[in-house]
Amino acid sequence: MAAIGVHLGYTCACVAVYKDGRADVVANDAGDRVTPAVVAYRETEEIVGLAAKQGRIRNASNTVLKVKQILGKSYDDPQVQKHVADSKCSVVEKNGKPRYEIDTGENIKPVSPEEVAKLIFGKMKETAQSALGSDVSDVVITVPFEFGEDQKNALRQAAETSGFNVLRLVHEPSAALLAYGVGQDSPTGKSNSLVYKLGGTSLSVTIIEVNSGMYRVVATDTNDSIGGECFTEALAQHLASEFQRSYKHDVRGNPRAMMKLMNSAEVSKCSLSTLGSANCFVDSLYDGLDFDCNVSRARFDLVCTSLFNQSMESIVKLMKQVGLTADDINKVVLCGGSSRMPKLQQMIRDLFPNTELLNSIPPDEVIPIGAAIEAGLLLGREELSLEEDVIAINCSARDILVKEVDESGADKYTVLFPCGTPLPARRHHTLHAPGDFSSVCLELYESEDRKCVTDNNKFAQIVLKDLHKQGGGVHDILTVLTMKRDGSLHVTCTDQHTGKSEMITVEIVS
Ligand code: AMP
Repeated sequence: MAAIGVHLGYTCACVAVYKDGRADVVANDAGDRVTPAVVAYRETEEIVGLAAKQGRIRNASNTVLKVKQILGKSYDDPQVQKHVADSKCSVVEKNGKPRYEIDTGENIKPVSPEEVAKLIFGKMKETAQSALGSDVSDVVITVPFEFGEDQKNALRQAAETSGFNVLRLVHEPSAALLAYGVGQDSPTGKSNSLVYKLGGTSLSVTIIEVNSGMYRVVATDTNDSIGGECFTEALAQHLASEFQRSYKHDVRGNPRAMMKLMNSAEVSKCSLSTLGSANCFVDSLYDGLDFDCNVSRARFDLVCTSLFNQSMESIVKLMKQVGLTADDINKVVLCGGSSRMPKLQQMIRDLFPNTELLNSIPPDEVIPIGAAIEAGLLLGREELSLEEDVIAINCSARDILVKEVDESGADKYTVLFPCGTPLPARRHHTLHAPGDFSSVCLELYESEDRKCVTDNNKFAQIVLKDLHKQGGGVHDILTVLTMKRDGSLHVTCTDQHTGKSEMITVEIVS
C-alpha cells in the first residue's frame, strides 16, 4: 500500500510518499526535495521547476510564478489585481476569470491558472511515481485554512487533470500537526498547539486545540505582506548598496541587475541558515563589472531586523486575540521554508521558553509529510468516504469532573471529560479511600467553569457499601466511565480487592 501527499505552495511545491508505515519526501529528477512552483513556456515545451525559475530573467514574459495566488479566483478579486500588476507574464480577463497570455512564437495562447497548476501537479506525480512505481496515484493535497470552496475546487481539479486520484484535501496547519503525530499517540486530554508557517510570500499563524486526537482551529491569521522574498529583497538591497560603495554605480533602478542580485541573495540567504557566512558572486552585474561580496549571518540578521520583528507580531496579535499566554501553548510546530532561519527560530524559542518546539523535520517538508501520512491513514480505512472534508462529531458540552478528598481533607475535583471531548469516549479513574471506611461514595459534577464547582453542579453519585475494613490499607476503587454519542454516561465502580461492583447510567449529561 502506498500513497502520496502534495503541498503546492505559492513559491514551491513538495511531494512526500507514504509506504511501509512511513512518510518521506522524494527528490525530483534534479535531486532537489523542493521544486520551485514556476512554469516556463518555450516554443515547443513547458518547463517546470528550477530550470524555469533560473531562466526567468531571459524568458520573463512567458514564465508563470505564484499561480496559487489566483487559482479559483475571479479577475476582479483584489489579490488577482495585485498579481496582475506584479506578474511579468501578461494576465487578461476572460469570462470574469484571469488568463495568462503565452506567446508561442506563432500566436498568443490563453492559459488558465488551473492549467499551470496541472503542470506542477504533473511534475509532482512524476517525481512520486518514479520513487513508488507508476500505478500509484492516490493523493492527499494540502490547502491553506483560509481557502474558499472555489479555490479548493480549482486545486482539486488541477490535481485530477494531472492524473491524480484526490482522496482528500487537508488544511495545511492540520497536516503540520499530523507530520509530528501531535495528539495521535496519547489521545486523551486537551492541549494547544501553534503552527507557525513562514513561506515565500506569506506568514500564517494558527492555534489549534488538540483534543482526543481531533484538531479544532481556535484562531488563525495570515499576513501576505511578509514572506521569505522580503528577506531576499532586503539582502539584495544590501548587496546593491555594497556594489555602489565599491563601484559608485547605483543598480537599484536596473531591473535586470536587480534580478541577478535577487538570485544571488536567495542562494546566500539559504546558505546562511546553516553557515556563518556566504559568498555572493554575480557575473557581469553592471557594465561588465563582476560583483563579489561576503555576507556574515550577523550582517544578514541585522539587515533583516525589522522583518524578523514583523514575523513575530502575528503570533503576539493572535495570542492576545484568543486570550492565551505562551504557557497555554504546549507545542509550536515550524513549517514553511523561511522558518529555517536560525534567528527566527531563536526568537520563537524566546517567545515560548517553556514550550516544546517541533523543528526536527525540515520546515518546508513538514506539510507534505503530514499530507502523505493522512493519505496513508485514509487508504488504511475499510470504508473510505472521499467527500468527508468536514466531519460532524458529537462532543461533551461541559467538563465532567469527579470529586475526591485530598490528604488535608479538602475537596479536589479532577476533570475526566474536558468540555469538547469527541464522543463516544471512555475514561478510567482510580479512587484511593482509607481502608477503615466501610463505604465509599463517588460524586460526579458537571461545570462550564472548572475553577468554580459547587454542590449545585453535582449530577450523580454512586456508593459502594459493605466494604471489608482493611486496617492500615486502602480501598482501590476503579471507576470506568463511558460517555455515549447521545451524552448519556455509564459509570461502573469496582472495589479492586473484593470485586464488589456498582453501576449507574445517567441519561443525558450534556
Ligand atoms: P515554501 O513556500 O514553504 O517552500 O518556502 C519558500 C521560501 O523559503 C522561499 O522564500 C525560500 O527562500 C525560503 N527558504 C527555503 N530554504 C531556506 C533556507 N535554508 N533558509 C532560509 N530560507 C529558506
